Amino acid sequence: MKHVCIIGGGLVGLGTAYALRKKRPNLEISLIEKEADVGKHQSTHNSGVLHCGLYYKPGSMKAKLAVTGIQEMSRFCQEYGIDHEICGKIVLATDNVEVERLRELQRRGEANGLEGIEWLEKDGIAEREPHAVGEAALLVPQEGIVDFAGVVRQLKQLLLESGAVIITATEVRRIREENNKQIVEWDEGSCRSDYVVNCAGLHSDRVARAAGLNPNCQIIPFRGEYFTLSEKGQRLVNHLIYPTPDPALPHLGVHFTRMIHGGIEAGPNAVLAMKREGYRKTDFSFRDVFESLTYRGFYRFLLSYPGASLGEVANSALKSIFLKNLQHLIPGIEVDDLAAGGGAGVRAQAIDREGKPLLDFAFEEAQGQLHVLNAPSPAATASLVIGRHLAERVLSA
Ligand SMILES: Cc1cc2nc3c(=O)[nH]c(=O)nc-3n(C[C@H](O)[C@H](O)[C@H](O)COP(=O)(O)OP(=O)(O)OC[C@H]3O[C@@H](n4cnc5c(N)ncnc54)[C@H](O)[C@@H]3O)c2cc1C
Repeated sequence: MKHVCIIGGGLVGLGTAYALRKKRPNLEISLIEKEADVGKHQSTHNSGVLHCGLYYKPGSMKAKLAVTGIQEMSRFCQEYGIDHEICGKIVLATDNVEVERLRELQRRGEANGLEGIEWLEKDGIAEREPHAVGEAALLVPQEGIVDFAGVVRQLKQLLLESGAVIITATEVRRIREENNKQIVEWDEGSCRSDYVVNCAGLHSDRVARAAGLNPNCQIIPFRGEYFTLSEKGQRLVNHLIYPTPDPALPHLGVHFTRMIHGGIEAGPNAVLAMKREGYRKTDFSFRDVFESLTYRGFYRFLLSYPGASLGEVANSALKSIFLKNLQHLIPGIEVDDLAAGGGAGVRAQAIDREGKPLLDFAFEEAQGQLHVLNAPSPAATASLVIGRHLAERVLSA
């Protein structure tokens, strides 16, 4: 294999290129990105949390890659002086149903190899986060925060120094096979490659289809909004505070996150988005909405999870509902503690034709191609080990 083409310059694409470069210094690598620079979407529009593997079903791809993922990401940040901090987090259970779910989370975390998880009763919660309330909580010491934009910049620099080619402002339209080569086409040109890796995030299903695949899932975009906390609000939060999530859903619920460069954010909610890369509430794409509305899995998802979809729309429309969700964790938060301007992100969530959100990472291979069909959280944390996993698959093909 002489040449590999990677489509998408988010953390997964960059991590894959980096791992390929480390394994095969002489391999020719081209990374193609449609924006003017790499890392402009999910990889830098997120909570900035280093997830350590608490939530994921033992044996799943996520469980396997998250635990080593955070270790590798922390080592990378240490080596290159990228801001990060392992500050730990608590996950709060506020009623009996959540207490049961929390016990299952503890079992999962321990089965995934996490050490030092502590079960906290009310006094333990009060000691760690005096303004939070809950029936019980898990203290997860390994969890942290990081500057993912710094990671993106560092990976880009290392790749360029190593001779990899990064082509920006170039949107891949089609991939076809010709004489055992993959021809990757865009508007003004093309490249010939031995192997293609699709890491196109919110567009990964489209790129897969443009390569001739018929994946059993489609990306449904979920927008997540953040508020920044006022100075008074910030005094109510020490570290990271998360709710106990519903295990059937891919989202973790609105949480409080201390940011690596100061300040505390609250969010994100998870609202069906009208545009795959639409960060403002009013952003709308006819193509994106049409594709969601004509997808059978989308209706099945709405029927199966009405609360998760429509409840979140209300959550977004009404600041009061957003606030209520936060007060569930910290009753002292008030409406004037929530300042706009916390930004937003759009998650690429793959949903299968039966309407089920894919909870695990999903990769699909075809002749000369590897497609990342689902890489939601914690794929930023785990991007270096996901990249290594993908690189091994490419090199053994
Ligand atoms: C609101 C939110 C909060 C999150 N919080 C966390 C967190 O705290 N911790 C964590 O670990 N994870 C978190 N995640 C998840 C994490 O950000 C993503 O899983 C991860 O960034 C995915 O990386 P990616 O490279 O697959 O996608 P992206 O970063 O979206 O990159 C895909 C790239 O492909 C490019 N592209 C698309 N189509 C084409 C094309 N046709 N041609 C060329 N280029 C193309 C895009 O422009 C983009 O740059 C969060 C995500 C969101 C949205």
